[in-house]
Amino acid sequence: MSLANWWRRLAESGWGYPHWPEGQFGKDMSHEQHMEVERARVAVGAFGVPNDVSVTLVAPTLMEHGPEILLDRYLEPIATGQEMWCQLFSEPDAGSDLAGLTTSAERDGDRWIINGSKVWTTGGHVSRRAVLMARTDPQAERHSGISFFILDMEQPGVSVSPLRDMTGAEEFNQVFLHNAEVDHRDVIGGLGEGWRVAMTMLQHERDADAIGHDGGGDVINQVDLNAPVGQVQEEQQKGGTTSGFFYATGSVKDDVTFNMVKQLASSDDPVLGDTATKAKMHRELLDLNSGRDLPPSVGKLLNSALCRELRDLGFAAGPASQLSSEDSVDGGHFLKSALFAAGMSIAGGTDEIQRNIIGERVLGLPREPSVEANADRKEP
Ligand SMILES: Cc1cc2nc3c(=O)[nH]c(=O)nc-3n(C[C@H](O)[C@H](O)[C@H](O)COP(=O)(O)OP(=O)(O)OC[C@H]3O[C@@H](n4cnc5c(N)ncnc54)[C@H](O)[C@@H]3O)c2cc1C
Repeated sequence: MSLANWWRRLAESGWGYPHWPEGQFGKDMSHEQHMEVERARVAVGAFGVPNDVSVTLVAPTLMEHGPEILLDRYLEPIATGQEMWCQLFSEPDAGSDLAGLTTSAERDGDRWIINGSKVWTTGGHVSRRAVLMARTDPQAERHSGISFFILDMEQPGVSVSPLRDMTGAEEFNQVFLHNAEVDHRDVIGGLGEGWRVAMTMLQHERDADAIGHDGGGDVINQVDLNAPVGQVQEEQQKGGTTSGFFYATGSVKDDVTFNMVKQLASSDDPVLGDTATKAKMHRELLDLNSGRDLPPSVGKLLNSALCRELRDLGFAAGPASQLSSEDSVDGGHFLKSALFAAGMSIAGGTDEIQRNIIGERVLGLPREPSVEANADRKEP
């Protein structure tokens, strides 16, 4: 069966997204039930739904903020893996300080005209559409002047330029928007409500980072929808087509990597033994909670700590761990995730920002003194 058919079957049966609502490719199941279904799927070795921001972030955000008409238009191609999406939030001068974004959207009848540039756009080169934050009211207070749009990436005003990361891959991009157009109907959550919508999406992103995407389809390298699903799954398991991001989010917690370092738990070296014990604890906490009973910022911090611990342990296991795909026994599997580990402490809001959120929002500590430039950080 082709990948396209498999993804359609999974979606239409409701078993791909059992936690989504009935009638919207789901079965109205709780998160615990959803995790039970995922475990059963992994146990029989079945290929998962697309591992793409459209599935993990856009769909749940649309379900929360609507309007309904956008769900009618976009949910099916997302659920069935026909369209990949990307997230146009960060700018060269607005990352943690996201409310400082300057990409502008000016209204022209039923259209909005977009100008600016975005950066670190994961999967921008293979995306059919994007979610975009842009400033619709430059006079308004920083947060309320922002709106949230759906942008067609395949139009003349959008140009995508690849950025190479230290794994050697080109998975994220800089995206230049020059008189790009958005239909007024493609505003999510209402005009000037972009900050609220973005914070919902970032919560989902932190949850997804903490949970990982075990066994799902890595789509950053654009899989061939016509290929047999078994072949795609096999290639991804071998690591041939799989991206560092996929490893770091999901497979860093998988058995290949974990077994490689497990033996170090009984190491005579007290530093290695300590790191191995921490890694074991962090993995168990994440497995146990699946990132959900924890505040998303806590789950995300645990996940980035686990990525770093596994990286350090793996490197300590010897020179074999430093070989890349062509000459390595594991096809470079470990090295890819190890080199990507640092990115997990940055993507979706840095560790420092997560700690600020935990201090101020979870523990109720006083806000840190701020200067205007970073008064509004990338946090809910
Ligand atoms: C792998 C990866 C994928 C990504 N994918 C996307 C994507 O698809 N779409 C997208 O829009 N963006 C994406 N990003 C960008 C990411 O969201 C930003 O890199 C991140 O929010 C940090 O912003 P910055 O890089 O501008 O760093 P800065 O905000 O400039 O931060 C620099 C340093 O200062 C610290 N800092 C800043 N403010 C504070 C503060 N108030 N308190 C304490 N410390 C602070 C930070 O923790 C950091 O260490 C991705 C990043 C990575 C690494």
